[in-house]
Amino acid sequence: MSVDPTAESTQFHELRDRLAEATGKLDLKGAWPAEQLRWLDEAGVLGWTVPHEFGGSEISTSDLVTGYERLARACLTTTFVLTQRNGAIQRIAGSENQSVRTTLLPDLVHAGTFATVGISHLTTSRQHLAKPVVQVRESDDGYVFNGTMPWVTGARQADHIVGGGTLADGRQVLAAISTDHPGVNAQEPVSLMALSASHTGAVHLQDVEVSREMLIAGPVEKVMKQTSGGAGSFTTSALAVGVAKSAVSQLAAEAERRPDLEQVYAQFSDDVEQVSQDLRAATAGRADDGETAESLRERANSLALRSTQAVLTATKGAGFVAGHPAERAVREAMFFLVWSCPQPVAAAALREFACIIDG
Ligand SMILES: Cc1cc2nc3c(=O)[nH]c(=O)nc-3n(C[C@H](O)[C@H](O)[C@H](O)COP(=O)(O)OP(=O)(O)OC[C@H]3O[C@@H](n4cnc5c(N)ncnc54)[C@H](O)[C@@H]3O)c2cc1C
Repeated sequence: MSVDPTAESTQFHELRDRLAEATGKLDLKGAWPAEQLRWLDEAGVLGWTVPHEFGGSEISTSDLVTGYERLARACLTTTFVLTQRNGAIQRIAGSENQSVRTTLLPDLVHAGTFATVGISHLTTSRQHLAKPVVQVRESDDGYVFNGTMPWVTGARQADHIVGGGTLADGRQVLAAISTDHPGVNAQEPVSLMALSASHTGAVHLQDVEVSREMLIAGPVEKVMKQTSGGAGSFTTSALAVGVAKSAVSQLAAEAERRPDLEQVYAQFSDDVEQVSQDLRAATAGRADDGETAESLRERANSLALRSTQAVLTATKGAGFVAGHPAERAVREAMFFLVWSCPQPVAAAALREFACIIDG
C-alpha cells in the first residue's frame, strides 16, 4: 500500500517527521541516505512512478509533484535522490522496448535495487564542448559506450544507470547501463556545497556494450526530447518550493516571538503558497496564460533563495553556525541555481542578481 502524497495521513506525517529530524545529521555526515530510502520503501513511496502492471502505484504527475514538495520540505537530500531514482524509472517505464521494462521495473518498487540517471551531458552539462563527452558506436548486439558521464547521483549505489551517448552521425541513444559491467567505473563522489550525501560523481565508461534488450530510446536526434521528464520540469520546481516552505515555517517560528518579522513572514508565506498553487494547477493542465514550466522554475528558484536568506538574516550569527538549519537551508537553496537549470532560467537568475529590470 502506498502513502497518498496529497492526504494529511498519519503515515505521511510520521514519514516527514522522521525525515526532517534526520536531515541535519545526514547533511553533516554526508553518508548515503540508505535508512531514509528504507523509510520511503515502507511507506510505498518508491513505487510512486512504477506502473501498476509491475507492482507500483503509478500516481499522477500532479500528485507526484505534491509529494515531492512535501517531502523536500522535510529533507531535500533524500527527496533529490528519490527524483533521480524516479527519473530512471520514468524513462524505463516510458520506453517502447518491452524487454527493458519487464526486466528492470518489478525490482524498482523496493529499496533493494537502485537506479539513477546520467543524462545531464545531453541537456544542461558540457553543451559548449565540440565533442560529445559520451560517444557511442553500434555493435552486432547493441551499442558500445565510451567516455564520461559527468554527473551521476548515487552512482556507486546503483545497479543500473539510465545513461545516454552520441553516435558519430549525431543521433543519440538512451540505455539502462548495468554497473556490473567491468568497463563502468564510478568515481569517488565529489564533496559539494550541499547535498554531499547524494553521493554524486562522474562515471567513466570504457567499451561498455549494452544489448538492444536494455535500450530505452533511440538512436534518434535529441533523444531527451523523446523521453519523459526533462530539464526545468515541474519536479525541480516542486523541490525548490519545498525548500522555500521549510524556510517559511522557520520564519513563522521566529516571527512568533518577534513582531518585526511578521510582515516579511506574511509576504513570503503568501508568495510561496501562490507558486505552490500555480505549480499544482500547471501539473494538472490548468496553468494560467503565459505560465510555463520555465516561469514557474524562475519563481520557485527566486523564492527558495530569498526565503532562506531571510531566515539566515532573522536568525543572525546563531544561524551562521555550521549545523544550524538556517545555514543548511541557504546552502541547499543554492542547488537550484545549478541543478537541471535550463539556460533561460539561469539567465533570469543572473538578471535578478544584477537588478536588470525587463521591459
Ligand atoms: C549535486 C548535483 C547532482 C546532480 N545529479 C545529477 C544526476 O544524477 N544525473 C544527471 O544527469 N545530472 C546530474 N547533475 C547535473 C546537473 O543537472 C547539471 O547538468 C550540472 O549542474 C551542470 O553543470 P556543469 O558544470 O556540468 O555545466 P557545464 O555547462 O558543463 O559547465 C562547466 C564549466 O564550463 C564552463 N562553461 C559553461 N558554459 C560555457 C560556455 N558557453 N562557453 C565556455 N565555457 C563554458 C564554465 O566554466 C563552467 O564552470 C547534478 C548536479 C549537481 C550539482
